[in-house]
Amino acid sequence: MNKPKGTMDQLPREVIKWRHVEEKFREICHRYGFDEIRTPTFEFTSLFKRGVGETTDIVQKEMFTVISDANLRKYHEGKFDLDKRGFTLKPEGTAPVVRSFVENKLYADAQPTKLFYITPCFRNENPQAGRLREFHQVGIETLSAMNPATDAEIIALAKNYFEELGLRDLTIKINSVGCKSCRPVYHEKLKTFLEPRLDQLCETCQGRFHTNPLRILDCKVPTCQAAVKDAPRLIDHLCEDCQTHFSGLKDALDAFGIPFVVDSRIVRGLDYYTKTAFEIISENIGAQATVCGGGRYDGLVEEVGGPETPGVGFGLGIERLILTLEAEGVAFPDPEPTQVFIVVLGEAAKLTGLGILKALRDAGIKSDFDHLERSLKAQMRYADKLSAAYTLILGEEELKSREVTVKHMASSTQESVKIDEIPDYILAHLGGRR
Ligand code: ATP
Ligand code: MG
Repeated sequence: MNKPKGTMDQLPREVIKWRHVEEKFREICHRYGFDEIRTPTFEFTSLFKRGVGETTDIVQKEMFTVISDANLRKYHEGKFDLDKRGFTLKPEGTAPVVRSFVENKLYADAQPTKLFYITPCFRNENPQAGRLREFHQVGIETLSAMNPATDAEIIALAKNYFEELGLRDLTIKINSVGCKSCRPVYHEKLKTFLEPRLDQLCETCQGRFHTNPLRILDCKVPTCQAAVKDAPRLIDHLCEDCQTHFSGLKDALDAFGIPFVVDSRIVRGLDYYTKTAFEIISENIGAQATVCGGGRYDGLVEEVGGPETPGVGFGLGIERLILTLEAEGVAFPDPEPTQVFIVVLGEAAKLTGLGILKALRDAGIKSDFDHLERSLKAQMRYADKLSAAYTLILGEEELKSREVTVKHMASSTQESVKIDEIPDYILAHLGGRR
């Protein structure tokens, strides 16, 4: 049996990297005052239709909608409304957080609400490097704050995170996608520009022309990119409010010491984005270069049924982040080696060995014993494979004298230590390290 296409097993040597990036993220979020939130793996399909947007790639072709076997039978009989009662595996993290913010009335607490998440996401895409069907995101959201400095803080956190992981060669691109008062005017301008060029656009963009023309600007197809090269720019058509916000963002980024470029083609794929949109691009991983994308979504909370509340955040793919770190040759922590391996000869020695093992582990020392009842030589070889710092050899003699030979593997030196004193001896020699 194989795993489904587009999914990944995370074997222990990979999990070390995952834990590293997740722990770093938790630590940075804590420093910036964000608290962790966990939401269900699936939500009502309607949440994503509303919160992500009917015209987005995600809703149109990438969602995994799930149904129980019992409801599947009803569905075939025409008695189950999948649109109303169906569940969808979360394709992104923001809509569920906003749903939870509304459902749990977090807006009634002192504001803003600053949340972070680490979550699996599911999208039915063509699997390739950095593009999976089950992938993982870390992300943050700040709700209830309109301040452009809040947007800058989100970008600052992402940048800080990347830097502390050791990433270089990152470009921060910012844009403003306007709001519901200035965007429709721009849409018309853009459509007027694109109309005579419609036949140069890919099939998807010809559809987007009617549903979501802004998305044409960030299409990766070369003919589309050529067609929009001289298109009017949304940042030249912002209303006063959006203009003020955008210049406030630039000032706040300067104040945080964050270099950025304005790229009028950063639009983000989701309908609910307003004003700030940004991407962080790595120059080193080729086609799937966007490691982090985010922005402001002032219309989303209301869309999901809550009070009018602004929001801003980002989502970042862990798989792509790790690919980027690997491409840049960034070092991950080494697995912690076994500190003590107990070699036992015979049943009585094994039982005494288990007692020593417990004392070592209680003292916080990573230790193990021979589970396979191997010969002395084979046990020593295995201890070597584990890169054990110390080996204890426990035979009949040692049981009688209650003293054990402790061998320091790297120097091949050994000492006799009283059984009761072993944990203290090891701690002292490991420099008290746990
Ligand atoms: P793309 O243009 O690459 O499809 P997107 O606009 O769909 O990206 P978002 O919806 O903004 O991406 O998701 C945020 C981040 O999640 C992306 O920047 C990326 O790091 C990651 N991501 C998105 N889709 C996938 C996927 N299928 N597999 C792995 N990571 C993904
Ligand atoms: Mg996508």
